[in-house]
This record gives sequence, structure tokens and C-alpha cells, in this order.
Amino acid sequence: MGKIVAKFGGSSLSDAGQFRKVRDILRMDARRVYVVPSAPGKRFATDEKVTDLLYLTHRTKTEGGDWRAVFARIAERYHQIERDLALTTDLAAQLERIAGDIDAGASADYCASRGEYLNGLLLSAYLGYAFLDPKDYIFFNADGQYESERTNDALSEALAGVENAVVPGFYGALPDGSVHTFSRGGSDITGAIVARAACADVYENWTDVSGFLMADPRLVDGALPIRNVTYRELRELSYMGATVLHEDSIFPVHRAGIPTNIRNTNHPEHIGTFITHLAETDKNPYVITGIAGRVGYSVISVEKAMMNAEKGFGKRILQAVEEAGLNFEHLPTGIDTLCVVLETAQLAPVQEKVVSRIMALTQPDTITIHDDMGLIATVGRGMVHNPGTAARLFTALSTAHVNVRMIDQGSSELSILVGVDRCDFEASIRAIYHEFVK
Ligand code: ASP
Repeated sequence: MGKIVAKFGGSSLSDAGQFRKVRDILRMDARRVYVVPSAPGKRFATDEKVTDLLYLTHRTKTEGGDWRAVFARIAERYHQIERDLALTTDLAAQLERIAGDIDAGASADYCASRGEYLNGLLLSAYLGYAFLDPKDYIFFNADGQYESERTNDALSEALAGVENAVVPGFYGALPDGSVHTFSRGGSDITGAIVARAACADVYENWTDVSGFLMADPRLVDGALPIRNVTYRELRELSYMGATVLHEDSIFPVHRAGIPTNIRNTNHPEHIGTFITHLAETDKNPYVITGIAGRVGYSVISVEKAMMNAEKGFGKRILQAVEEAGLNFEHLPTGIDTLCVVLETAQLAPVQEKVVSRIMALTQPDTITIHDDMGLIATVGRGMVHNPGTAARLFTALSTAHVNVRMIDQGSSELSILVGVDRCDFEASIRAIYHEFVK
């Protein structure tokens, strides 16, 4: 029988009622043998996430405040779950030990990791699954870089020895054995790591939405869910701001050829979104897979006649950008122009310096900066095989009276990127969506 690794996010494990849903989901498919929990999330809109409270505990302790009062709020969240599920565990002793560690000056990472650790202990008691502490199986080097192969060896061996297990998300250990966490949202990464180590058929990522939507539902009313997206398309969409999964959770499963299935704990009947290595073309009825965009970009346009005949022109522009410590996002070029697209927040403090450096290095005819731009990526593996996609996209934008300021077709041919004025951003996304979807 194949195996499924099921990761449950914070909202899926925020109280006893959610724990029950998780148990029911696991019972629905006997292949769901390994479970990766997050820390308890919000139960209602104004509630607090346990991880946030743990960071607050650490900060309060560092600043000499009453950290025990904050910690008591965390302890109560777990006690309540334990009580409501009528569990008998050593929770009280665990909490006391953690409080002792915090009192003795435990690190922020250690404090934050206890959210997943304690939730994992309760969940393993509730399900009757083994508990594998990631500090013994997930490794980072001394610089805090994740060590994939060492982890995979240790974790596969440990998993092979247990029929089913709970592996808390979000953390592992440094070479000296101390706890180290991934960045926020990192339980997604643990889930992918466990899926790879278990050679799972599927990595299920259970959250509170029924998969990825084709566009931001705040901008497009009733945006439809994506049935199937490839890992490469997802990377393009997430880069442009569409987030459901932690970006780094893609790599372990992608490389191992394991599909990820985003599911909704509150609506397990929805099939959700499948993220696969190769396209399952029959699954998506549209030419495009999704649209994502972000605002807050600036474009530096450098114009010089015959620039394409001048060796090293582009290199010198990028040199100026690099000297100022900036990352550039895109680099569309024309015959006599080269544009550098950057985040406005990065550029603004060093703008004058960069401009004068470009002037000195390249002696351009003109150099202009256009702020307040939005970038929109229309992504779809189907676009390459469908002639006229670009024409439809630009016609839709022009019908919506949008002035397209920049165009870049990704070299992957998976996406078409357009730059528009901030004031046209929302209308552009809606126009593209309605052209290709409905
Ligand atoms: N609990 C951690 C966070 O809030 C990790 C996670 O939930 O994925 O960032």
C-alpha cells in the first residue's frame, strides 16, 4: 500500500473540534500514515496564533517583562485541547520544563518551535501514533542551512521503523543539537521533507482554503480554483505573490516527483489543487492556469542609440545596480533601451546614487524612472501551444483602457509579464481573468 504524508496547518489544529476533523480525515484513507502538524492557529479572526505568542514570550523575557503571563495564555490553549479531547498526557510536566528552559534563557527558535512540539505530542496521543521529534532527524549546518541528504537518510530510516507517526513541523537541530527553525510558515517544508523521506504517493497539505485560486479572490469575485498546476507554474505564481504554500516546500517533493495536494480541512469533500511535476493537461479547461501580481515596482529605463552594438552595456548597468546592493526583478530590453525592474522600497533610498552611477558608466541619451508600477504574471503551460494567447491578453487590456508600460515574456514560455500603472493594476487582473476564464 502506498503512503500519504498529511500536513495540517495551524487553523486545522486550532482546537479540539479541529483535532477531531483531522482524525476523521486520516481515517478516510488508510494510506495517511504520517502526519505533520503546525502549532495551533487562530480559532476566530481576533484570536492569537500560538507561534506569535511564543515569540512574544521570548521577547518579553529578553526585555525583562512578565513573560510568565504570556506563557500562561499559551499553556491554557494546550490544556483546553487536552481537556476537551479527554486525553491523559504529561502536558503539565512538558510545560513546566519549557518554562524552565525559557527562564534559563532559551533561544527564540527554541521558544517558537515548542508550538509544533506540544501540538505534536497532543496529536500523537490522540491518534495513537508514534512521536518523532524532528530535532533528531531534521538537520541544519552551523550556518543554519538545511542539510537535505543527511536529513533524508536519518528520517527515512526512522519512518521505516514505525507504522504511523506524528512529526512536528517547523524545526530541526543545528550540529550542536540546539533547536533551529525554518522561516515562518515552515511546517510546509517539514511536510515536504517527510513526504520525500517516506517516498509518499502524495504530499497532502491541509489548510483552510480549497486549493489555489486562479486569481486573488479580493480582486476577482468568485475566482475559480485551479485543479492542476505544475511545480514550475507554481513557482512563477508564488514569485508574483500568490501564496498558499511556503516557497521552499516545493523543492523536496518536486525533485522526488511527488505531487502535492492542497486540501481544505473544513471541506474534505473538495478535491483541492494538485501540484504535479508534469502537466495533467486534461484537468485544466483553460488556456491559462492562473494570474498573480504585485505592486510597488519601479522601472529604470536607459536609452542610448546603437546601445546593442556597444559591448558590456548591460553589464555596466547591472554593475551599478549591484554596487548599490539591489536585486533586480526583470530586465526587458528593446533595440535602444534596456529597462531594469526593481522593488521601489529597495531602490528609493539609493536612487540618486544608482542613477548617477549608470550615467557615469554608460553615458546614456536618456535615463528615466517610472515608479508606482504593478507587475502581473499570466501563467499557463498551455499558452505556448495556443497561438493568439498574447493577442487576446493585450486586446483585453486595451479594451479595459489599460496602458501597458512594459512586456516581458518569461524565457520559460510559461508566463507573460506586463507592467502597468498602479492605478490600472486591479482592472488589468480582472480584464485578463474575464478574457480567459469567464
Ligand atoms: N507555526 C509556524 C508559523 O506560524 C510554522 C507554520 O505554521 O508553518 O510560522
